[in-house]
Amino acid sequence: MLERIRIVLIGTSHPGNIGGVARAMHNMGLADLALVAPRCEVITQDSISRASGADHLLHSAQVFATIEDAVADCTLAVGASARSRTLPWPMLSPRELADRLPGECQADTARVALVFGREDSGLTNAELQRCHAHVHIPTNADFSSLNLAAAVQVLAYECRMAWLSQADSPAPASQRADTAQPVPVADADDALASHADLERYFEHLERTLVTIEFHDPDKPRQLMARLRRLFLRARPEQMEMNILRGILSATEKAAQPGHHRK
Ligand code: SAH
Repeated sequence: MLERIRIVLIGTSHPGNIGGVARAMHNMGLADLALVAPRCEVITQDSISRASGADHLLHSAQVFATIEDAVADCTLAVGASARSRTLPWPMLSPRELADRLPGECQADTARVALVFGREDSGLTNAELQRCHAHVHIPTNADFSSLNLAAAVQVLAYECRMAWLSQADSPAPASQRADTAQPVPVADADDALASHADLERYFEHLERTLVTIEFHDPDKPRQLMARLRRLFLRARPEQMEMNILRGILSATEKAAQPGHHRK
C-alpha cells in the first residue's frame, strides 16, 4: 500500500524542507517523491543534512514541470492546505483520509498523490481544483500553517497507521492466499479513470461547452471549477469516461453547421 502513495511538492523554495520531507517519508516507509517546478536546488548540503540519512529519496525524486504531469497516473489526488477556499472543495481530515487509503490503494493500478504547496503561498485554487479532495490538518485557527516537512510528517504518519491497521486485521477468507477460493478479479470496466483521463475529459468538455455556447470563457463564473468538483466527486471509471467523451464528440458533431439529424 505505501508504495502506491506519492508525495508531491509544488514550487518548494528551501532545500532544507525537501530534505525534511525525505526524512519524514523514509521514517514512515514512503519512497515516491515528486517535485513540481522546485524553486531551489534539490541536492544541497542543507537538504542532505536535513534528510539525515534519507538522501537516497532526494536522488530518486522525479521532477515535473506541472502538477498535471506529476499526478497523471494517479487515481486519487488529495491537496493539503491550511486555508479554506471560496469555492469549497470536498474536505477530509487526516484520519478520514487514512480510513480511505487501504481501499484506494487496493488495485494494482491505484496511485494516490498527496499534494503540498509552496512555503510562502501554499496551493493555488487551480492546483487544489486538480485534486479530488482537500485535506486540512486541524491546527490553531490563529496559527494554522505548519512547516512543509511537518505537514508531510503528519499525513505520512496517517498513511503508516492505515497500513499498520491493515496489516493487523487479517484479510477476509476469500482473499487469503492459503484458501482454495480464487481471489475475485476486478472487471476491467471497474478501473478508475486516471488523472490524465480526467484532464483530457475536462479539456474536451470545456471545448464542447464553448462550441454550443453554454460557456463563455470571458465570463467563466466558476463553471469549469464546479463541473470539475462534480466529476471528481463521482470518481468515474475508465469505461464511464469513454461514454462521457463519446457524448461530447456526438454533441460537437451535432452542433456542426449543416448537420441534419437522420
Ligand atoms: N502560507 C501558506 C502555507 C504554506 S505551508 C498558505 O497560506 O497556504 C506549506 C504547505 O504545507 C501548504 O501548502 C500545505 O500543503 C501544507 N500545510 C501546512 N499547514 C497545513 C495544514 N494545517 N493543513 C494541511 N496542510 C498544511
